Amino acid sequence: MLINGEFVDSSSGETFETYNPATGEVIAQVAKGGKEDVDRAVEAARQAFDHGKWKTMPFNKRARILNKVGSIMRSRFNELVELEVLNSGKALSAAQGQVMQAIEDFEFYAGSVVSNTGETKPVPPGFFNYTQKEPVGVCAQIIPWNYPMMMAAWKLAPALAAGCTIVLKPASLTPITALVLADICREAGVPEGVLNVVTGPGSTIGGYLVDHPDVNKVAFTGETSTGKDIMARASETMKRVTLELGGKSANVVFNDADIDAAVDGSLFGIYFNTGQSCEARSRLFVQEDMYDAFMEKFMDKIQKLKLGNPLAKDTHVGSIISAQQVDVIDGYVQEAVKEGATLAYGGYSPEFEGFENGHWYMPTVLTNVTNDMKVAQEEIFGPVVVVMPFKDEKEVVKLANDSKYGLAASVWTKDHGKAHRVSSRLEAGVIMVNCPFSAFPGLPFGGYKESGFGRELSLETLDLYTETKSVLSYVGPKPLNPFGI
Ligand code: NAP
Ligand code: MG
Repeated sequence: MLINGEFVDSSSGETFETYNPATGEVIAQVAKGGKEDVDRAVEAARQAFDHGKWKTMPFNKRARILNKVGSIMRSRFNELVELEVLNSGKALSAAQGQVMQAIEDFEFYAGSVVSNTGETKPVPPGFFNYTQKEPVGVCAQIIPWNYPMMMAAWKLAPALAAGCTIVLKPASLTPITALVLADICREAGVPEGVLNVVTGPGSTIGGYLVDHPDVNKVAFTGETSTGKDIMARASETMKRVTLELGGKSANVVFNDADIDAAVDGSLFGIYFNTGQSCEARSRLFVQEDMYDAFMEKFMDKIQKLKLGNPLAKDTHVGSIISAQQVDVIDGYVQEAVKEGATLAYGGYSPEFEGFENGHWYMPTVLTNVTNDMKVAQEEIFGPVVVVMPFKDEKEVVKLANDSKYGLAASVWTKDHGKAHRVSSRLEAGVIMVNCPFSAFPGLPFGGYKESGFGRELSLETLDLYTETKSVLSYVGPKPLNPFGI
């Protein structure tokens, strides 16, 4: 763990194993932190915030350090990608895109450090006001396993840009690249104590961080149920909270869409990152009179997806994070079939030579599904899409919004008016029109409804790591005597 600028063991000396999910091999022993370690990390972050130079460091110097993080990452790109693949089992191409985005996040926020400024506000004559943005303080940042390095970058870069200090807790399944990224931040000149990383079980040290009275803010990405627990616990100490949670995003294909682009984008939308994406477009709605033609092409293309060795350049779909997650995915698929859904493709764990002890699941398609089925309402977090036909615009907007989640949605149509009409009616924070990608650095990313609140990746994220202070002065010529006595 990184505490106060030093890599240290846990106080108890305990460790846990971390695996390559594609092979089942142990790849490292990681410090198993406990409450004492959290106390040490929070104390370091508190001291660095209250007495250190980070929050008052001149903007240009802070920006230079963030840019340096990006340039060190660029120089170690292949190594970072390989570590990400080894610890997560994701396909090389997915890891390349995500590590590059992590780099660009640091570069974006390096450029943003002068943007988070106050304003002068209109006030009555004789008064003068300005607002000032101040870093919120010590931030606990708790992240999931599906994009280990990118999620670390989404959290660290804006908090550092805003002048906060940090205790980061990576997911226990994927702690490696967050630790390496923290080391890179240290090398780039992030002062000791500003960035600390604790590893260990979320149920104990994650919760303890959320309760900790010296932590000012919790930024969490993970499951909605964990987010609810965090939100309730954080209220005890009135911590600032931002939550990026689960999703069950709709992918709406109208009959006037470019059918090939829609098929390719829909495949990517669900099977990218082996379906383990918060924004996975896992509910596919296809307009009735295009349904057969679309599905024919979709079922043809799905067979071209290459599964297997995640480090191979031509692999599209990597492994699943754990055996437990494979069971969860398969449980949903089998239950859906019992409820009357048709298993149109996949629905089992394939085997590959050399990867027999890894965790795998086929890209899976379920048809004859209705939107009220569990498989259409709950987040599976695996490579499973449910396909449903729809009649018209009105009906599909209703179906798409009939979900407790509201993270993302895709719309495929050549009719611009329809695209933007439907986009404005969809209850989701991220909409993709004729586009398979959900975000670039600078675009706000976050959810409506039970997908959480707060936006990452963008300039407004800085607001979530700052407090706004309003300073009102009286500047009139005569002293004020408000009581008139
Ligand atoms: P998770 O089980 O909620 O865990 C996320 C993190 O929280 C891990 O570091 C975990 O530690 C920790 N944690 C667990 N219980 C905790 C508690 N009671 N208090 C504090 N921390 C606790 O989520 P996951 O399974 O890693 O990730 C998958 C989920 O992330 C999906 O629902 C996905 O949709 C969501 N996600 C959302 C976004 C977004 O931007 N909206 C992006 C990516 C992922 P351990 O690992 O030690 O258990
Ligand atoms: Mg989980």
